[in-house]
Amino acid sequence: MVEKCEQSMEFTGFLGNEQLKTRLSGMFRREKASHCYLISGPEGSGKHTLATLLAAALQCTGGGEVPCRRCPQCRKLFSGSHPDFISVDDETRKTIPVEQIRKTCADVFIRPNEGRRKIYLFPHAEKLTPADQNTLLKVLEEPPDYAVFLLLAPNPGLLLPTVRSRCAELHLSPLQESALLPALRQRCPGRSEAEYRCAAVSGYLGQAIAILEQAEPSPKTAAFLEAFAARDTLGMLETLTSMEKWKREQLLPALQEWSALLTEALSARYGAPVSNPALQTVRDRRTAREILEAVEALRQAETWCNANVGTGAICGALAVKL
Ligand SMILES: [Zn+2]
Repeated sequence: MVEKCEQSMEFTGFLGNEQLKTRLSGMFRREKASHCYLISGPEGSGKHTLATLLAAALQCTGGGEVPCRRCPQCRKLFSGSHPDFISVDDETRKTIPVEQIRKTCADVFIRPNEGRRKIYLFPHAEKLTPADQNTLLKVLEEPPDYAVFLLLAPNPGLLLPTVRSRCAELHLSPLQESALLPALRQRCPGRSEAEYRCAAVSGYLGQAIAILEQAEPSPKTAAFLEAFAARDTLGMLETLTSMEKWKREQLLPALQEWSALLTEALSARYGAPVSNPALQTVRDRRTAREILEAVEALRQAETWCNANVGTGAICGALAVKL
């Protein structure tokens, strides 16, 4: 066990996982911080965020709740420049060469440079071969007091039982939509509610952000926004005509997306932020009244879609209105 640490942890920026937080805080309060943690969860579930918080909490020299984020140790750790927070990985390979693990094991016995502890982060512990793990096991069994190991993996089952038995296991859970949606709105402003809800289905903040950042508008949507912004009647007609043969199940989500986007452009006219450059153009070139009329036309078209009106007729009516 690591020496005394009579503090509890604070978790700003790390959402959900209440049981895990209580457990970790309890470990700190009861002076039972472990030498080795196995943090597991899928890509984007917060493994790195938690590992950084934990490392900072272990190095922190401030009083009260840890990490304090103000002491020199915390600052270095959060800026990625702490000499005693060491990442062990080889990004060019699918596994970590056993030679690198041997060097790490030797390094463990050199005292920390300036921190209270020397913390080794394995950002992809799943890349540790059985030989790597057996080599590592020797130091995991009897580490120096100051040494801490943070193993990150998508699934704890990817490590040998002998290694797992040395670790305090921390498994990250998906978040409730009620926790995820406000965080998403804050981290990726200017998207439609439909987009936030779609992205939030994954349950993990990192994944949801990645989904939103990758989401490009579909070609039809891009053409629609461009034609609408430029008052390009011919462009609008071409876009809608090319959709006349679509099935209703295809057309409805497109109409919903368009009305959500235009609603967003409308809010943007009253100062709300927009991330999509096409929406900025709509905001700048069309009046609030025009955008509102277009949203109403699209919503009317959605009701027709739900009432089984033919897609050709819907697209034709929209072409007239827009
Ligand atoms: Zn601190």
